[in-house]
Amino acid sequence: MKKKIISTMVILTLFLVNAYPALAVTSQEYKQQADQAQENANKEKEKLEEVEGQLDSALQEVANVSDSIDKVEEEIGELTDKISKLDESIAAKQKDLDEKEVLLDERLSAAYMKGSNTYLDALLSGGIVNFVSNYDMIKQIAEYDNNLINEVKEVKASLESEKNKVQEAKVEKEKKSTELKSLKNEKQQKVNALTDEQKEIQNKIDEYDSQMNALKKKEKEQAAKEAAAAKAAAAKAAAAANQNKTTPGSSKAPSSKPSNTTGSSNGRFLWPVPSSRNITSPYGYRIHPIYGTKKLHAGVDIGAAGGANIVAADSGTVILSSWGYNGGYGNYIIISHGNGVTTRYAHCSNLYVKVGDTVSRGQVIAAVGSTGASTGNHCHFEVRINGESKQPLNYL
Ligand SMILES: [Zn+2]
Repeated sequence: MKKKIISTMVILTLFLVNAYPALAVTSQEYKQQADQAQENANKEKEKLEEVEGQLDSALQEVANVSDSIDKVEEEIGELTDKISKLDESIAAKQKDLDEKEVLLDERLSAAYMKGSNTYLDALLSGGIVNFVSNYDMIKQIAEYDNNLINEVKEVKASLESEKNKVQEAKVEKEKKSTELKSLKNEKQQKVNALTDEQKEIQNKIDEYDSQMNALKKKEKEQAAKEAAAAKAAAAKAAAAANQNKTTPGSSKAPSSKPSNTTGSSNGRFLWPVPSSRNITSPYGYRIHPIYGTKKLHAGVDIGAAGGANIVAADSGTVILSSWGYNGGYGNYIIISHGNGVTTRYAHCSNLYVKVGDTVSRGQVIAAVGSTGASTGNHCHFEVRINGESKQPLNYL
């Protein structure tokens, strides 16, 4: 059950993190995500340190309780030895008593029935004349025997009472041992729980680390692409400038102030959907129509007929042209215009250019559609500078 929850969490985390790369494509965005993964990993590492500290002390507690149990068990062993030694002594005394009692019985019987050689010998030794005084003497001997028996009985009784005391002590120690064992059980369970927690956190750290490494790799790859695109754009701009020099009368570089008939040219960029000026959703924070969450709408939505032309807002290099859901963008294009400036065109029904293509200002690059996270035909248009989205209307 627990495992299932963990794996669901990992999958969710993967999903959330993997959902970003399609949304954010610049190397800077990859870097931000990699930094986030790093930060997440660091947070988990702090937790891990704390849990490992707790685990160390829990393990120490288990070790301490184990030592106490060993000690008590040793004491119980000693008491058991003592009891068996006392049992031996008591048995020996009992044997002594039995023998003495048998002897006394024999002597007494002999005194009356003349059946024993010891007492009988004593009785008859002085001849029949002394019989009576001998009889008195025998009685004294019997009394002496009886006293001896009583002494042994006393010793035996004191051994038995000692044995009882030792047995009581042993019972106490056994009780103590049982208590310590259940305490050890508790501590061990704590250790097990902390070990599980340690493993879970370590898994998360591994997960974040691998995410971070993957994102860093993507960042590197993307940075290389961007550098190549920027280089190509610069070379193109230089060529165009060169041509302008040798062609008197022509206008300036196409990116500055072109003579065009589509859209306004107040800003830097050309209006990307020549057939429509209808902004259906502005740039800024809004409740997302599909996700229902408040988040930055990073571009403007221009409502237009499906299949209507989308044109490049300025000349540049296509750095992304991707079919698919793409984290909600649907089929979309990113054009790099150099100096960290990019534009993107999303939810397209068709894409006419591919990565690496150079496009000119006003060139048809895609068709309006409703792919990805979209509720109707429109072009989602973004302007980003160094990966950060800007209000596109300031540039149109
Ligand atoms: Zn949009």
